[in-house]
Amino acid sequence: MSKPRIAILGLGIMGSGMARRLLSSGFHVVVFNRSWEKSLSLAKAGALVAESPKDAAARTDVILSMVADDNASRAVWLGENGALTGVSPGSILIESSTLSVVWVKELSALAGQHGCEFLDAPVTGTKPHAASGELFFMVGGSAAALEKVRSVLSVLGREVLHLGPVGSGALIKLINNFVCGVEAAAFAEAIALVDKSGLNREKCLAVLENSALASPLIKRIISSMKTNDYTPNFPLKLMTKDLGYAISESENAGATLKTAAPALEVFQHAAAEGLGDLDFSAVAKSFAQG
Ligand code: NAP
Repeated sequence: MSKPRIAILGLGIMGSGMARRLLSSGFHVVVFNRSWEKSLSLAKAGALVAESPKDAAARTDVILSMVADDNASRAVWLGENGALTGVSPGSILIESSTLSVVWVKELSALAGQHGCEFLDAPVTGTKPHAASGELFFMVGGSAAALEKVRSVLSVLGREVLHLGPVGSGALIKLINNFVCGVEAAAFAEAIALVDKSGLNREKCLAVLENSALASPLIKRIISSMKTNDYTPNFPLKLMTKDLGYAISESENAGATLKTAAPALEVFQHAAAEGLGDLDFSAVAKSFAQG
C-alpha cells in the first residue's frame, strides 16, 4: 500500500489529533464519530465525514478505531451500520483503543471472516503526542500485515513495535497502565497524608518532585495540582477502565495483580465524586483537603 485511504473511527482526544496528523501528511482521511459535531473541524481540515462506520469502511483500505472501551469498539465495528458490514476483503483493520485482550481476539477472528487482516495497536503518549505524530505503537498481529500499514503508523508514531500475535499489543498496554494506575493512586494517598498531617503541601511537593519517585507521570500530577488545571489529556474514567481490564486479564493469565484492586478502588472513588471526565491526575484532588 503506497498511500492508503484511511478511516478514523472515534474523534475524541486521541482520534481527532491522529486524523489531523494524517491529513497534514497528505493522506486521504475519512472520519466517523458517534457525536457528529466533533467531525466538523476535521471536515474543515479536509477530511471526508462518513455517515456511519460502515460508510467510512466502504470508502477506505485501512480502518483505525480509537474509541473509549470494549463497548464503544463493539459499537463501531459490530453495531448497526458497523464498520465490519462495510469492509472490503483485503482491508486492514487496526484497533488502537485500549481494550481487553479477550475482545481484541474476538474482533480479530471476525475480521478474518470478512477476509481482512487485523492488528491491535494501542499506544502510549497522550493528546500532544497524538497531534504531533509522537505516539508509541505496541502492535499485535501478523508482521506482514504490519508492514503493509507501517507507512501510516509511522506518521502517527515515533515508534512502531511489533510485539507478537494478536492480543500482544493490548496486553502490554494494560500492563503499562496497571503500573501507571497504581503509581497515581499511591501518589493520591500520599498527598492525602501530607494534608491530613498538617505538613506544608507546597514544600512537600518540592521534595517529591525532586526525588526518585518523580516519574513523568508523577510530574504530570504535580503540575496539574500546582496549576489547578485538570483539563483532560487522559480522562480519569479511562484509567479506571484500564485498571479493571488489567485485573481481568491477570485472572485469565493466572497471575495476581494484588496492588491493582486497591488502585482501582481509589480511581472508582474519584469517579464517584464526579471527577471521571477530568484528567486522571485529578485522582490526587479526590483526597486533597481543599
Ligand atoms: P475520549 O476523548 O473520551 O474519546 C472517546 C471516543 O470514544 C469518542 O470518539 C466517543 O464518541 C467514542 N465513544 C465512546 N463510547 C462510544 C460508543 N458507545 N459508541 C461509539 N463511540 C463511542 O477518549 P481518548 O482519550 O481519545 O481515548 C481513546 C482510546 O485511547 C481509549 O481507549 C483510551 O484508553 C486510549 N488512550 C488514551 C490516551 C490519552 O492520553 N487520552 C492515551 C493512550 C490511549 P463521542 O464523541 O460520541 O462521545
